[in-house]
Amino acid sequence: MGKVTVGVAVVGAAAVCAAAALIARHRMRSSSLCVKAADILKELEEKCATPAAKLKQIADAMTVEMHAGLASEGGSKLKMLISYVDNLPTGKEEGVYYALDLGGTNFRVLRVQLGGKSGIEFTEFAEVTIPPQLMIGTPEALFDYIASELAKFVSDESEKFWLPPGRQRELGFTFSFPVMQLSIDSGTLIRWTKGFSIDEMIGRDVVAELTTAMKKRGIDMSISALVNDTVGTLAGGRYENSDVCIAVILGTGSNAAYVERAQAIPKWHGPHPKSGEMVINMEWGNFRSSHLPLTEYDNTLDAESLNPGEQIFEKMIAGMYLGELLRKVLLRMADEAALFGETVPPKLKTRFILRTPEMSAMHHDTSADLKVVGNTLKDILGISDTSLSTRKIVVEVCNIIATRGARLAAAGILGILKKMGRDTVRDGEVPKTVIAMDGGLYEHYTGYRNCLENTLHELVGDQLSQHIKLILSNDGSGIGAALLAASHSRYV
Ligand code: ADP
Ligand code: MG
Repeated sequence: MGKVTVGVAVVGAAAVCAAAALIARHRMRSSSLCVKAADILKELEEKCATPAAKLKQIADAMTVEMHAGLASEGGSKLKMLISYVDNLPTGKEEGVYYALDLGGTNFRVLRVQLGGKSGIEFTEFAEVTIPPQLMIGTPEALFDYIASELAKFVSDESEKFWLPPGRQRELGFTFSFPVMQLSIDSGTLIRWTKGFSIDEMIGRDVVAELTTAMKKRGIDMSISALVNDTVGTLAGGRYENSDVCIAVILGTGSNAAYVERAQAIPKWHGPHPKSGEMVINMEWGNFRSSHLPLTEYDNTLDAESLNPGEQIFEKMIAGMYLGELLRKVLLRMADEAALFGETVPPKLKTRFILRTPEMSAMHHDTSADLKVVGNTLKDILGISDTSLSTRKIVVEVCNIIATRGARLAAAGILGILKKMGRDTVRDGEVPKTVIAMDGGLYEHYTGYRNCLENTLHELVGDQLSQHIKLILSNDGSGIGAALLAASHSRYV
């Protein structure tokens, strides 16, 4: 099968160039500039190329790193964190459980009523944006803000929610940053990602911080499970479908978790779980390999970031960064090839001004004159009167960046399948593998999602592909945390 590109109308660089030359003939420099923009585009395309053979090398490297990370603490860039989740929800859990999901731009609070055999009876949630200054302030300010929002939410619990008598309410805390878990309900922060940076918090127990803040706000509830969003998504997925054994998040950041045999975790010295299994939080965002197709744009994005040298894989595939990569390419085209006229539009120099939702809106523009692209360039970057050929170049840049990201994510999934021995058909026996997917990028960026799915199909082949399913586990991480609070309840 050939290269899979994001399924949106795509025009080759040469055609764009020819059209631009025709339309913009009145501009003296247009033809040479056009060649220049086409050159930059061509170079980008080459540097970002992800042929299947390369993806397979990347998948192999992922598998190798997974082994190394499981062998010893610090054995790999992949932390392969032990989640202490050794019993996933069964569907028999009962009562009201709360969850708090912190891991990016927003945080969610939710409550779910579990009805045993009848499953999830109802859920309610609220979503709150985190004020940017709290992301780089003090632990106390951040956790007090979270607790105050939780307190508001708890105070309007209606009577339809109930708890078996004699029990205190319990909460699952989804905290989607690298945490060294000490037990199912405690763990210390290793480092921040995704734009958070509160140095004082490193090494501190996140459950203790939240408990203190909740007490101050008068919330009478215990935190029974501390989980990562991928682990929560895995639990939420498993509750719906018993074949779920991998979870992947593609949102602001990216990460994956999967179910590992306890025996295959040499660094685990605790008592072997009864189930014989343990959920591993890979922290795959920090994966890095010499096979990754890194470009100058990736290198400067990384150098300018809050965490240079870290989360290299995440910076190539996740929502926080795709729009910024697009901006960097357009800036170079504006600067060296006058893509938007003689001067570089000043707003194009502002970091993170182009966000991934805008990038996907432009990428998905199906109008003949690429109206959405034109409007976005005007509204966000203050660039008016763009020609159709310029808009086509912009779409093509979106396509190259999104395609690379989606295909790399698929390679990462293949790496996990290999580690689990689910990447080949053995003796005619094929286990069914269901992968719970979550995150705004996967959910809303259709072209990215389709490309990821097509690429996985391309990599595993037709036969195996029939036994691998990706399901959208919408807000699985929030509900999953509540489910894990239930399956690890203090009362069970
Ligand atoms: P988080 O990862 O912060 O927990 P989400 O899973 O909701 O939250 O993901 C939000 C991210 O998803 C945004 O930062 C953005 O990068 C991406 N995203 C949201 N909507 C879209 C969209 N329409 N197109 C592309 N990406 C989107
Ligand atoms: Mg999330």
